[in-house]
Amino acid sequence: MSLVNEVTNRADNKCELCSSTTDLNVIEVSDSGEDQSSENHALICKKCENDFSSEAPDVNHWRCLTGSMWSEYPAVQVLSYRMLHKLKSESWANELFDQMYMEEDNLNWAKRGISNNVKTLDSNGAELNAGDSVTLIKDLNVKGGGFTAKRGTKVTGIRLTDDPGYIEGRVEGQMIVLKVEFLKKG
Ligand SMILES: [Zn+2]
Repeated sequence: MSLVNEVTNRADNKCELCSSTTDLNVIEVSDSGEDQSSENHALICKKCENDFSSEAPDVNHWRCLTGSMWSEYPAVQVLSYRMLHKLKSESWANELFDQMYMEEDNLNWAKRGISNNVKTLDSNGAELNAGDSVTLIKDLNVKGGGFTAKRGTKVTGIRLTDDPGYIEGRVEGQMIVLKVEFLKKG
C-alpha cells in the first residue's frame, strides 16, 4: 500500500485534527529525523494546514485539539502539540498543553519543530520583535558594506531572522544582518 493510501485509510478519510472531510492532503510532519513513512505523515485539511503557518490561527477551530491530542498516532500528537503551543496565550489551550502526554522521542520531535520560536533577545535580555528599534552598543564593521556602523546608531523597523542570534535592519540605507549581542532595544 502506498504511503498516501496507508495514512488516508488509518485516518478514515477525515482530517486527523478536525475531522473535516474536504480538501484533505497527506503532509509530512517536519523534523521527525526519520525516513518517509506513514509514521511521520498525517492526513489534514487545507484549513488546518493553512493555520499552521498563519500568524493568527482561527482559535475556535482549534478546539478540535481536545480530541486529536489523544490520537494514537505520533504524527498527529506532534501536530497537536505544536498547535497548542502556538495557542498557549488562550487559557483552554494552555490547560490542554499541560495535560498532553507524549513519549519522550515524540516530544523531542514536536519540540524540534518549534525551535525557531525561540525568542530573540538583545544584549540585556529584552525581547526583540519585528518592527522594534535598536541601538548599536559598539562600532561594527559591516562586511561587504565598506563602512563602519557607529556605536549609538539607531536602527528602526528591524526584522527577525530564523536564528535568534541575529536580526536584520537598515543601516546607512543598506539592509544588513546584525548580531543581537551588540544591540540594545530602543
Ligand atoms: Zn482539519
